[in-house]
Amino acid sequence: MTAFALAIGAVCVLWIAVLLAFARPLLARWREPVFRVPVLVIESDDWGAGPLAQAPALHRLVDVLSGVRDCSGRAAVMTLGVILEVPDGPRIAAGDCRDYYGIALDDPHFEAIREAMRAGIDAGVFAPQLHGQCHYWPPAVLAAAGQNEAVRRWLVDPEPASTEALPSPLQSRWVDASSLPSRPLPERDIQMAVAEEATAFHRIFGSVPGVAVATTFVWNDAVEAAWAAAGVDAIVTPGRRATCRTDDGTPGCTDAAMLTGARSTAGPLYLVRDVYFEPTLGHGPQRLIDGLRQRSRQGRVSLVETHRFNFLQAGESALTALDAGLRGALAALPSLRFAAPVEIARALRARDPAWLESRLRPRLAAWTARLDEVPRFRRVAALTGLAWPLAMIGGRA
Ligand SMILES: [Zn+2]
Repeated sequence: MTAFALAIGAVCVLWIAVLLAFARPLLARWREPVFRVPVLVIESDDWGAGPLAQAPALHRLVDVLSGVRDCSGRAAVMTLGVILEVPDGPRIAAGDCRDYYGIALDDPHFEAIREAMRAGIDAGVFAPQLHGQCHYWPPAVLAAAGQNEAVRRWLVDPEPASTEALPSPLQSRWVDASSLPSRPLPERDIQMAVAEEATAFHRIFGSVPGVAVATTFVWNDAVEAAWAAAGVDAIVTPGRRATCRTDDGTPGCTDAAMLTGARSTAGPLYLVRDVYFEPTLGHGPQRLIDGLRQRSRQGRVSLVETHRFNFLQAGESALTALDAGLRGALAALPSLRFAAPVEIARALRARDPAWLESRLRPRLAAWTARLDEVPRFRRVAALTGLAWPLAMIGGRA
């Protein structure tokens, strides 16, 4: 009996030691708010100033999104990560690439795109959010054009540019990636640029940008502070923050990890977008449904990334996949709700009991479902037998 009690005591000590070793990520996931119902947001970046083919694509998206409704009757919501400017190619060419000039989304040239966006906003299916004045840092692209003929051709093209065609490092707005590794931008330049683009966003959409998402997910504290000063309330992230482009051009210098509901030191809340649904990359509707199921088990909202290139390149087949994904999601989880990120941020700030769970058992179930993502914890929990009581707590045993 004594030996048995000693063995039990030793196991308990071992489990406590494991829990203490992983205390930080475990506690963070306990503090992370738990959503009571599955929530789905389709997040689509890069729309705005650019190819005119966006206008019919946006109208078709309005048709598809309006046709799918949640249990409350709300239509599916797609955020539009908006780009407010592309290069004015002929004008830049006339100056032999010595100076940069842009053509803005509120130019008459883009009227059909603005009208399509407005149709979706009025129908309650589009939620515009700030992606950036440009999908690049103009001085960096200008400098790169002096060294790289393909970039120079892109910059002077008389047709509205597709920023997807720029070399990836140059698509990051908040660093100077004209050579690698990238260099940080002066803080004052960031402040002025954000203030200008927030003003342009207000001019076009009639409100301050409530939500911001950095191009290529490269940004830093200075950008967050400038966003906060411009009225941004929520920042969409992939769960970590890269602040540079490294020697090989990939996003790096990661200096922070975040969970949904955590607060930036500048004030805005972070949201995590980590379901990827890009039909032109071969992602089928099931991927969206599986992502939603997993986030729902974890008590998390599902922010689903799907860029505009899907709808410009693949057209109807991407729309068909999106429609099937949305309908499949509703069939899999009938209590599913569609919402815009700004509403999610509002619910988090208000700790709204209509959205957030406060009962212990569902919170424990969500917490244990989140632990598998903690590096090495799952293996250590399995080896020490700690996985068993955790499964009991989570209602999975
Ligand atoms: Zn983008």
